[in-house]
Amino acid sequence: MTTTRTTCPYCGVGCGVLATPQPDGSVTIAGDPDHPANFGRLCSKGSALGETLSLDGRLLHPEINGARATWEDALDLVATTFQNTIAEHGPNSVAIYGSGQLLTEDYYVANKLMKGFIGSANIDTNSRLCMASSVAGHKRAFGSDTVPGNYEDLELADLIVLVGSNLGWCHPVLYQRIVAAKASRPDMRVVLIDPRRTVTADIADLHLPVQSDGDSALFVGLLAHLARNGVTAPDFVANHTSGAEAALLVAEDWPIARVATATGLSEHAITLFYDWFARTEKTVTVYSQGVNQSASGTDKVNAIINCHLLTGRIGRPGMGPFSVTGQPNAMGGREVGGLANMLAAHMDFTPEAIERVGRFWGSDNVAQSPGLKAVDLFAAMARGEIKAVWIMATNPVDSMPEADAVRAALAACPFVVVSDMSARTDTGVVAHVRLPAAGWGEKDGTVTNSERRISRQRPFLAAPGEARPDWWIVSQVAQRMGFGAAFAYTNPAEIFAEHTALSSFENDGARDFDLTGLLGADYESLAPTQWPIRNKPSARMFGTGAFYTPDGKARFVPVLPPPPFAPAPGSFILNTGRVRDHWHTMTRTGKAARLSAHYAEPFVEIHPQDAEALNIRRATLVRLNNNHGTAIVRALVTDRQRRGHVFVPMHWTDQFASHGRVDALVTAKVDPVSAQPALKMALVHAEPV
Ligand code: SF4
Repeated sequence: MTTTRTTCPYCGVGCGVLATPQPDGSVTIAGDPDHPANFGRLCSKGSALGETLSLDGRLLHPEINGARATWEDALDLVATTFQNTIAEHGPNSVAIYGSGQLLTEDYYVANKLMKGFIGSANIDTNSRLCMASSVAGHKRAFGSDTVPGNYEDLELADLIVLVGSNLGWCHPVLYQRIVAAKASRPDMRVVLIDPRRTVTADIADLHLPVQSDGDSALFVGLLAHLARNGVTAPDFVANHTSGAEAALLVAEDWPIARVATATGLSEHAITLFYDWFARTEKTVTVYSQGVNQSASGTDKVNAIINCHLLTGRIGRPGMGPFSVTGQPNAMGGREVGGLANMLAAHMDFTPEAIERVGRFWGSDNVAQSPGLKAVDLFAAMARGEIKAVWIMATNPVDSMPEADAVRAALAACPFVVVSDMSARTDTGVVAHVRLPAAGWGEKDGTVTNSERRISRQRPFLAAPGEARPDWWIVSQVAQRMGFGAAFAYTNPAEIFAEHTALSSFENDGARDFDLTGLLGADYESLAPTQWPIRNKPSARMFGTGAFYTPDGKARFVPVLPPPPFAPAPGSFILNTGRVRDHWHTMTRTGKAARLSAHYAEPFVEIHPQDAEALNIRRATLVRLNNNHGTAIVRALVTDRQRRGHVFVPMHWTDQFASHGRVDALVTAKVDPVSAQPALKMALVHAEPV
């Protein structure tokens, strides 16, 4: 029996996995003891991967209008329809909507086709829903989308501040690493900032149940507290940053009493947190979707980074701001430029970058400006402006805000292509062409985790039926559209080599992402490696105080916290998120019985006093509704929830539970900088069914 070294396809921790196919057709799964992300650990989802590999529900053959078709016919139809649409309505009438599930090689080819040859930047991704605010915050502060630290910092820190992160369920192996570190160093402290008392509170020395979107006020107040108490790094601030005065001027208006009002926290609890932060040099602030999925998400990111810049706690062991990504390859997507506002290889749409990328790709038709971001893309589709769309490895009919409107937009779109492993996702149902994609265990490529570590996903199973890798499907369409020579790939190693070569920044020393050191590396045996790799891998960035802004200095960003949010009487603030054992819309985890045993159906967490006021009893059905949609879910009455707030998990779709699609209720309001939707901040009414 041969064991294959690969990487977990779920969260952004990016754990190494050993997969061993057995003679009876099953696959034994174990954590890879040599992978630096997990050192052999796996969570419940990762360890159940072998139970999710059945062909039940797989899309095995191309389909046109619901009927089986040949690859030839399906690819020809996609290529000619895209060509005709572009000829008649222009390049901005077509779009690709991708996924942090795609491998870097898939992402690279899709981005190259759209931005390099179709000549439109209308390629966005579900990563927009995941960490776009972190990208925007990084670029505002550092001049680059760079995660400064690494997982080891979580073990070296004396204080870990978790903001909007249920790490215990959403990044379980990182949680396990912190638990182990805390057990060996009991003086280590953990602060959890989250409106809910999640399982992660179990390791918290202090839980701050902050009012939704109160995080900015909390960190702006912290900045003022640090300055007031002289907890600053004057040399670092003077020599390696700019804009501190303006940020501190705004912060001065946020004394602790005002922070208490804005956050719903006691002054005592706030003071305790501030004192711990001030007194602890080795502090890491970990933040996730509770920060990013907000109409002020980018400001929240910068409010956190400001505190680390003022204290000089960045780029050194055991300290720094740390964004943990939700998806397995959200980082890889960012690296190839798979967001509508990026060009390629961490390059923006500058004239120099457009010229360079065009020269590299051999195209004179490179997109000149950013394209439509996710929410705007589907809104444009609803207006009839997007006439052909290709959706890859994601399920926007369930995961986009105002999901019913997204379904209607897709239903009215003249041409919808879906490439996916699954035969009947809620999005696939409305597609004109369905293309069977190879899945985890069958695909061959790379992913990048939250600590900038590139790892290989390797195949150990043959792709079933006529399923094909995404890079192959995109390349075949590109060739049929007349772009043949640029898409004549025969394997993913060729694509990775091209991606590596494009990342090389020639004589320009002002970019963080450069894989030149991997040129000529043996793709098959590529070991997990952290970028940048121009000269060598780098575990930490910015330790020398050099940033990627024009003047080389990190930028403080003045942050004005949003006004406290006061829902109308009878309304609840709806928070959405994950449960421990399911992933996204359950197309894979829904196959493992033991994963569904944790939570078998969608639910709403509601505070006992709110439930009593509405006559909602435990385990009865609750109708949640607003102007955008309705969901009917089971009541989970618990004081883990703040009064006036409810929480519903995001996973259930029409395939698994009728009326369980919570994103139908989420408003399509976005952060003005990052365009990331506020997926944790809708208003709903609740009533017993
Ligand atoms: Fe997979 Fe994330 Fe679990 Fe690791 S922590 S096994 S990457 S789901």
